[in-house]
Amino acid sequence: MKIKSDYSNEPQWKEVNVKSSVPKQLECLDELAHNMWWAWNYDARNMFKSLDEKLYEEVGHNPVLLLERLSYNRKEAIVKDKVIMKKVNDVYNRFKEYMSVEADKTRPSVAYFSMEYGINQVLKIYSGGLGMLAGDYLKEASDSNVDMCGIGFLYRYGYFKQSLSMDGQQIAKYEAQNFNSLPIVKELDKDGNQVVVDVPYQNYQVHALVWRVNVGRVKLYLLDTDNDMNSEFDKPITHSLYGGDWENRLKQEILLGIGGILTLKKLGIKKDLYHCNEGHAALCNLQRLCDYIDDDGLTFNQAMELVRASSLYTVHTPVPAGHDYFDEQLFGKYMGGYPAKLGITWDEFIGMGRTNPDDHGERFCMSTFACNTCQEVNGVSKLHGWVSQKMFAPLWKGYYPEENHVGYVTNGVHFPTWCATEWRHLYDKYFDPTFMSDQSNEKIWHAIYDVPDKEIWETRMALKKKLVKYIRDKFSTQWLRNQGDPAKVVSILERINPNALMIGFCRRFATYKRAHLLFTDLDRLEKIVNDPEHPVLFFFSGKAHPADGAGQGLIKRIFEISRMPQFLGKIIFLEDYDMRLARRLVSGVDIWMNTPTRPLEASGTSGEKAEMNGVVNLSVLDGWWVEGYREGAGWALPQERTYQNQAYQDQLDAATIYSLLENDIIPLYYRTTRGKTYSEEWIRVIKNSIAKIAPHYTMKRQLDDYYDKFYNKEAKRSKRLQANGNRLAKEIALWKETVAERWDNIRVVSEDVSALNDLATGEKAELTYVIDEQGLQNAVGLELVTLDNDPNKEQKIHHVYPFKMVKEEGNNYTFKLDFEAVEAGPYKYAVRMFPQNKELPHRQDFCYVKWLD
Ligand SMILES: *Cc1c(COP(=O)(O)O)cnc(C)c1O
Repeated sequence: MKIKSDYSNEPQWKEVNVKSSVPKQLECLDELAHNMWWAWNYDARNMFKSLDEKLYEEVGHNPVLLLERLSYNRKEAIVKDKVIMKKVNDVYNRFKEYMSVEADKTRPSVAYFSMEYGINQVLKIYSGGLGMLAGDYLKEASDSNVDMCGIGFLYRYGYFKQSLSMDGQQIAKYEAQNFNSLPIVKELDKDGNQVVVDVPYQNYQVHALVWRVNVGRVKLYLLDTDNDMNSEFDKPITHSLYGGDWENRLKQEILLGIGGILTLKKLGIKKDLYHCNEGHAALCNLQRLCDYIDDDGLTFNQAMELVRASSLYTVHTPVPAGHDYFDEQLFGKYMGGYPAKLGITWDEFIGMGRTNPDDHGERFCMSTFACNTCQEVNGVSKLHGWVSQKMFAPLWKGYYPEENHVGYVTNGVHFPTWCATEWRHLYDKYFDPTFMSDQSNEKIWHAIYDVPDKEIWETRMALKKKLVKYIRDKFSTQWLRNQGDPAKVVSILERINPNALMIGFCRRFATYKRAHLLFTDLDRLEKIVNDPEHPVLFFFSGKAHPADGAGQGLIKRIFEISRMPQFLGKIIFLEDYDMRLARRLVSGVDIWMNTPTRPLEASGTSGEKAEMNGVVNLSVLDGWWVEGYREGAGWALPQERTYQNQAYQDQLDAATIYSLLENDIIPLYYRTTRGKTYSEEWIRVIKNSIAKIAPHYTMKRQLDDYYDKFYNKEAKRSKRLQANGNRLAKEIALWKETVAERWDNIRVVSEDVSALNDLATGEKAELTYVIDEQGLQNAVGLELVTLDNDPNKEQKIHHVYPFKMVKEEGNNYTFKLDFEAVEAGPYKYAVRMFPQNKELPHRQDFCYVKWLD
């Protein structure tokens, strides 16, 4: 026989995870690394850094990876190092003290659902502002000691890493996360196995592993379908954030909403309230309906009362791409089984996601479903509350936008996360020690006026230099590698001048944010940035969604401009905007600029981060800045549009920015008088913005607002509905059913409105209606609505006058109104009837309206 030249089988690889062994004295580090508390505690991060400074940088400031890579020799050396060991013990003691506080049970408990969370850059489960908000919210929930948990996804690839090609084309790279090296833990059951949640999809199940992020005292549960229990078709559900096709998006939203509730059930967690951060999570209310029907034997209508009473939907954008719509066919493929579980028809079910439930051509919209299943809805700034009232107006027929029950809580930012350490030291030195627990108290912040100007300036300069150093360190190798022409790269880096007036524009490159505005007139811009006495430099940074060609086009254009000789080192694009770069930028520049198309910036938060770092805003009066702007504390472009034509409006806004820069901002920044090296007037602007603006945009204020405006009220009502075996919920459901049944038969028996003819101001007109309520007992209300009848104005409600019920005779109820015409002029009027019951939370909760002939 001939001997084969080679003969081998395949290797049988087995997985083993070699844990690094740790000296006893350092065991606490593992516990510290696995609680994200370090992400907002400078001393903790500093302690990790001191374990091995070079390695800490290499591992991207990830403490878990740091401990994994730390050599045994180094660990032994650390144990012998008294200075480091003191740091370790101090930090650990402070952590234990923080963790020992029990959650405040007097405030309602909340389950918070979000597709993304920005907690720290090492955990890539966020893309932009929505995620920042959710991450900041959980951190503040921890600091404020409320009973909250979060539900989200552990993405294998997260959002993409951005780099630019030689010609400025965005390159999106998805890097797999190694879960073992992240600051997360497996959620274990009582036998020590990782919890798995089985989520029904069509006629099979998807199995999600449950991970946990310890966010201080708050627990964030993350679902992960990338495991061998699932088919190749389902593993990718949690692969990437805002990636994949519509089918994958629907599968994600099923996992978040339905899977999220099943997770809480499996873990035995019950909360008072369920908060949908965006419509993505709205299906949580579908599962809750099913549970009330299955577990408590309630009818669909009864279950709906309980679900609505205990849920809140926060809408984050008026931009259509931010709202998910699903075709009936796709939606039916996954959701076809639910009507039977709920005891309603398919049309009734899909109708909950339609503006016009009977319109069979309409797709199912998650936001509409959220509005229909949540008692409370809110926008994220005062202006956005109003914009959302208008956006959702088609859902609530019979009412005008300004009457719709949509509130607002203006977004805020987590102070310890976004305030640079240098400023923290300064605030600690000058502010009242109660500051952290009383952050919204403007009086405390007014102590900034007592800080010597020089100290403010030195703090600012230190942060400007830190930013420039960060950019030189981080981008030199990257640019040399990707962007060719080493001489050019070196010259850009050298030209970055920390003494220049530095302006930042950094956020997602969605076209409505108008990053291109500054480049409307390149000649004028060239003069502005190249004044040798008064240099100015601009930083741009941000990712465009991979499917957004226009957004990527903007990045390319800015990149090209940054390579023109006259703009080298003056206009700079920084790749891969993430939380770390954001922290450097919001504290390192002098001015934070934002130029959204009105009124599309729902809130915006990066400008709020800037405020607490003495960085001044220059922004269109849109989103939070409408409320935040104070004279002498920043600059604003007017809120009202001058032109309907967007191109004209862009030109006007650009011209306003140039002239603000040329005439106000640059002269003020460089106005050094009385031998000072800095401008006292500039420091005044900084102090004004810290004293008058910053206190009102912290996450503490936002969290308190959610409790004051929504959670407390809802929890109270929800408890009443549930008492005595859901008695009130059942009563309300029955009452609504009866009203709905008889609604069309309720009729006007007689009316007398003749007094309205020839009315003069000051005169009274008595109006009378007799209504046959069809045996319903005093279940309708009546009101006269007047509209401004000026053809040049938007038709808005002028006034609503309620009728008084004055007589009851059998089924007939008599209503009267003494109408007094106070103002002269043309009006339109009409009378409408609505169901009335003091147990209803608001009119749109039971949105039946009949306008009388
Ligand atoms: C704060 C932040 C955002 C949100 O910025 P906006 O101005 O609200 O759009 C986006 N990305 C990162 C990394 C942030 O830190």
